[in-house]
Amino acid sequence: MSTKKGNISVQTADIFPIIKKWLYSEHDIFLRELVSNACDAITKRSTLASSSGQEMPNGSVEVIIDKPQKTITIKDNGLGMNEKEVEKYIAQLAFSGAQEFVDKMKDQGSDDKSDIIGKFGLGFYSAFMVAEKVEVHSLSMNEGSEPTLWVCSGETDYTFEKGTKTTVGTEIVLHINEESKDFLDSWKTRSTLTRYCDFMTYQIVLTDLEANKNIEEENAKAKKEEDKKPIPFDIINETTPLWKKSPSSLKDEDYKNFYKKLFPMDADPLFWIHLNVDHPFTLQGVLYFPKLNPNKPVQENNIKLYSKQVFVSDNVKNVIPDFLGLLKGAIDSTDIPLNVSRSALQGDPNIKKISNYIVKKVSESLKKLYKNDREKYQNAWEDIGLFVKFGCTSDTKFDEVMRDKVLFKNSDDKLTTIPEYIESIPSEFTEKLKGKILYFDKETSDHALKDQLKAKSIQTVITDQYFDPHFMQHVEMKSVGDDGLKFVSVDSEIENLFESESATEDDMKIKDFFDSTLVNDNNKENFAIEIKKVKDSNTAAYFKVDEQMKRFAQMSKMMGNGGMSMPLKKTLVLNPLHGIVQNAFKLSDKNEDLAKKLCHHVKDLATISSEGLKSEDKGAFIARANDLMKELTQLAIH
Ligand code: ADP
Ligand code: MG
Repeated sequence: MSTKKGNISVQTADIFPIIKKWLYSEHDIFLRELVSNACDAITKRSTLASSSGQEMPNGSVEVIIDKPQKTITIKDNGLGMNEKEVEKYIAQLAFSGAQEFVDKMKDQGSDDKSDIIGKFGLGFYSAFMVAEKVEVHSLSMNEGSEPTLWVCSGETDYTFEKGTKTTVGTEIVLHINEESKDFLDSWKTRSTLTRYCDFMTYQIVLTDLEANKNIEEENAKAKKEEDKKPIPFDIINETTPLWKKSPSSLKDEDYKNFYKKLFPMDADPLFWIHLNVDHPFTLQGVLYFPKLNPNKPVQENNIKLYSKQVFVSDNVKNVIPDFLGLLKGAIDSTDIPLNVSRSALQGDPNIKKISNYIVKKVSESLKKLYKNDREKYQNAWEDIGLFVKFGCTSDTKFDEVMRDKVLFKNSDDKLTTIPEYIESIPSEFTEKLKGKILYFDKETSDHALKDQLKAKSIQTVITDQYFDPHFMQHVEMKSVGDDGLKFVSVDSEIENLFESESATEDDMKIKDFFDSTLVNDNNKENFAIEIKKVKDSNTAAYFKVDEQMKRFAQMSKMMGNGGMSMPLKKTLVLNPLHGIVQNAFKLSDKNEDLAKKLCHHVKDLATISSEGLKSEDKGAFIARANDLMKELTQLAIH
C-alpha cells in the first residue's frame, strides 16, 4: 500500500501543545465543531446535488462510540473530499484557521480567555483536544473519485493512504486519549451533543456499539421474540427549532413545550415573544417571560445563543442589556461576532442594533399586553415587575414606553400606575400633594398612618426595599422639570396632611416629661421628641422620619451595607390631644412610676406601628406591657 507523508508548516508547529493547554476547560466543543462540519458538508452536497439534478439521500450525522476500541467516529453523508481536498482543507487550511485562533488567544491575555473559548474558530483541530490520533476517511461525491484516508497523531507530520470508504461522505475517527476517556461513556457524549447540537439542521444519531452489542447478545439468547429488546436509536436533535417556524403556524402549547425542552425544571412561562428579522441583520428567536420562583435566586445564563442552529453560548452578557437577561429563551443569529473579545463586542455596531431591536420588541409586546389585556398584565405583574422596573432604569427607550406602566399596589390592594395614582388624589388635597406620591415602605413605614390616610381617601403606594428605592429615584430624576414627581414616605408627610395647631406652654410640659423619661445619654444622638396637636388623628404618637435620610438608609441597605453604617435619626411626635398622652402627664405628679411606664408604652406602640419590633426587643416589650396592665387593672379593682 502506498503511503504518502506530509508536514505541517513550521510556523504552526506549536499548535498542538497550545490547543491542549489553552482549551483545557472546554474540551467538549470538539463535538460541536466536528458535527457542525458534518452538517456543513451535507448542506454543500445538497446544494451541489440540486444544481446538477443529482439525487441526494437524507442528510444525517452519526456519532458512534466504540468503547473497547476507544474511538468516537463522526460520520456524515455530506459532499466528502478526495485526497487533494483533505490536504488543502484539513491539512493546510484548517491549520491556518487554527493559527488565527491561537494568535487571537495570545492577544487576549490570560484572564479573558473564557470569552472566546467555546466559541467558533478552532474548527477541525479541536479534535486533538481529546484524541491522540485522528483518521479522516472520505469519499468525494464527484464521479470517479477515489476514497482517501488521512492519519495524524497530534504531531506535525501526517500520512495519506488509499482509503476504503465506499459511500460518499466523511468519517472522522478519533482515538480518544486517556484524559478524555469519559467521552467513551455514552451519557457524557449524549449530554454534550444535547448541549451543543440540540437544534442542528440534520438528524444526529448517537450509537453506542458496546451497549448495542450487549443487547444483541441478549436478544440472541432470548427464547421468545417479545423478550427481545430493540436496538436503541438515539436521536439527539430537533432539526427545525421553534424559532425557525412561522408564528402563525404555532399554538401556545408549542411555545410551552419548547420552553419545557429548553428549561425542563421550570414552571410554564407567562408569555413570550417570537423574534424574526432579516434586515439589516438576521435574528430569530423566542424570548419567554418566566414565572419567578421565590425560592430560587435569579439565575444567569437564561438565554441560549445559537448561530445557524449551532449552540454557541449561554452567556449573552455582552450581547444584550443585563435586564433582558431576566428573560429566558433562545436567539439565533449569524450576525453576532463570536470569537472576539468582550470589549470589542460592546462597541460592535451590529450588536448595538440587535440589542436595540430586542429591547424594542420586548417593550412593544409589554405595551400591547398592558393596553389590550390589563388583567393579564396585572396578573403577571408579580413576575414581570422587577424586569420592567429594572428595564426602565437601564434603557432609555424601554423607559419611555414602560415607565408609566409600572404598577404599585395601593392601600386598597389594587395595582395602580403612577399617573393613575396622581389622578386618585382627592381634589381637596391636590394642592398639598402636588406631584407627590405617598409611599408606604412595607418594612419600615407606619401602618396606622397609612390607614389614617386611607380614611381620607388618600391612597398610598406600597413599596418594597428590594428594587423600588432605585426605581423611585429614577422616576424622580426623569421627571425633574415637567411634572416634578416626588416619592414621599407616609411618615414624613403626615403633618402636612393633618391640620395641626402649634404647641402651647402646657403642651411643652408634656414634652418635657416624655423627654426626661425617654431620652437618655445612650439614645440622644438618634432620638428626639416633638409635640404636635394633630386634630383628627387617633394616634397617640408616631415616628417622623426625614425623607432624605430614609432614602439614604434604604439605598445603602440595597447596596448591601445593611443600613447599619448610619443609624436612622428618628423623631417621636406626640399628640397632646390624645388621652393616653394627657393622662401620662397628669399622673406624673401622683404616680410617677406608672406615668413613666405609660410613656414607654406610647413609644413602644409607635415603634410597633412603624418598623415593628426586632425579635430581640420583643421579650422586654411583653414584660413592660404585662407589668403596665397588671398595675392598671390593680388600680381599677381598688
Ligand atoms: P471551518 O468549518 O470554519 O471551515 P474547520 O477547521 O472546521 O473550519 O474545517 C476546515 C475545512 O475542512 C472545512 O471548511 C471543510 O472544507 C473541510 N471539512 C471539515 N470537515 C469536513 C467534513 N466532514 N466533510 C467535508 N469537508 C470537511
Ligand atoms: Mg468548522
